[in-house]
Amino acid sequence: MERLTDQDLAELRELCPGGVSMNVDLASISQWKIGGTADVILRPSSSAQVANLRRWFHERQMPHVAVGLTSNLLFSDEGLRVPCLQIGPRMGAVAINGTNVYAQAGTWVPGLARKLMKAGLTGGEHICGIPGTLGGLICMNGGSQRKGIGTSVVTVESVDQGGFRCVRSVTDCGFAYRQSVFQGNNEVITSANLRFVPGDRAVVRAEMRAILAERRQKFPRKQPNCGSVFKSNPAMYAEIGPPGEAIERLGFKGTRVGGAEVSPEHANFIVNRGGARARDVLALIAAIKHKVECATGYQLQAEGHYVGASGTIMPLDGGSQEDMPPDQPGCGGPAGP
Ligand SMILES: Cc1cc2nc3c(=O)[nH]c(=O)nc-3n(C[C@H](O)[C@H](O)[C@H](O)COP(=O)(O)OP(=O)(O)OC[C@H]3O[C@@H](n4cnc5c(N)ncnc54)[C@H](O)[C@@H]3O)c2cc1C
Repeated sequence: MERLTDQDLAELRELCPGGVSMNVDLASISQWKIGGTADVILRPSSSAQVANLRRWFHERQMPHVAVGLTSNLLFSDEGLRVPCLQIGPRMGAVAINGTNVYAQAGTWVPGLARKLMKAGLTGGEHICGIPGTLGGLICMNGGSQRKGIGTSVVTVESVDQGGFRCVRSVTDCGFAYRQSVFQGNNEVITSANLRFVPGDRAVVRAEMRAILAERRQKFPRKQPNCGSVFKSNPAMYAEIGPPGEAIERLGFKGTRVGGAEVSPEHANFIVNRGGARARDVLALIAAIKHKVECATGYQLQAEGHYVGASGTIMPLDGGSQEDMPPDQPGCGGPAGP
């Protein structure tokens, strides 16, 4: 990949004033506290800046990657050699008008849930404990309590790779369990119109408190992590239970590879005990998948994503890329980490 020249950087600083950072230690900004150095991170403050940056990249055929607060991402130990657009607090405006809510993609999700509660709206309680941006939440169709944000979406505004503005209605967003079209269409989400339902503020507040209390009790909070590693599979859930239970039954709780550990509190979380590398996490994921498949016949699917040094984003269990661990032996061979 070609390095950015001084002239390139000067132009990027004009397109994204006050939002250009060089040589950023990804371990210091990512939620898992893992990753090498990113050459350049751009934090735009408007959808117009996102469009201008993407057009600039497009004209130079320069690959780049878009992230939110990195709460679902594992960065490569080799860092990031392509520019990274981080859509965060500089694009965090929210406007509530009756039951209609406009929010920019960098909106902090727990803050949005509190704003909905204060406005007397219900339907957003399930997102109150999810530590990401609205853009990341929409891309992942994230949620809790068996819900996804997609059910509250009216339209999503994005910028395509040529720098053109797109507006998609909910039916064009391809929402399914932890999925949306934005995981594959190379658009950067800049804002969304959402709709909620009038509710009783006190009831909404009580529901949010209950959800947060349950999460505090169930999920590891002290060590850096990226939430649930594996998606729940309905057939497996009915037969065996959620991924965490299957993983726990196989004795993985507390298993470590380097600085990465299967959380002793919840087996579907991998925590960074200090100094974990991406390859440690990937090795644990591969070992868990292998052993669960051998024991149950079900193939777990990762929920989080891996960001390679070239900016490729793929599921954490994304297969045979060069910085992924080698395939595990067959079920007859030695299994486990
Ligand atoms: C402690 C903890 C608990 C969690 N609990 C939950 C939970 O209950 N439910 C749940 O669903 N998730 C949960 N997560 C995962 C994560 O918080 C969500 O997936 C979140 O929505 C990701 O938002 P983000 O801004 O951090 O996105 P990132 O992690 O930065 O990115 C995630 C994906 O979205 C893409 N993306 C991000 N922003 C944009 C944008 N503006 N335009 C286009 N694509 C974009 C990225 O390219 C990437 O593919 C949890 C994570 C942690 C650390």
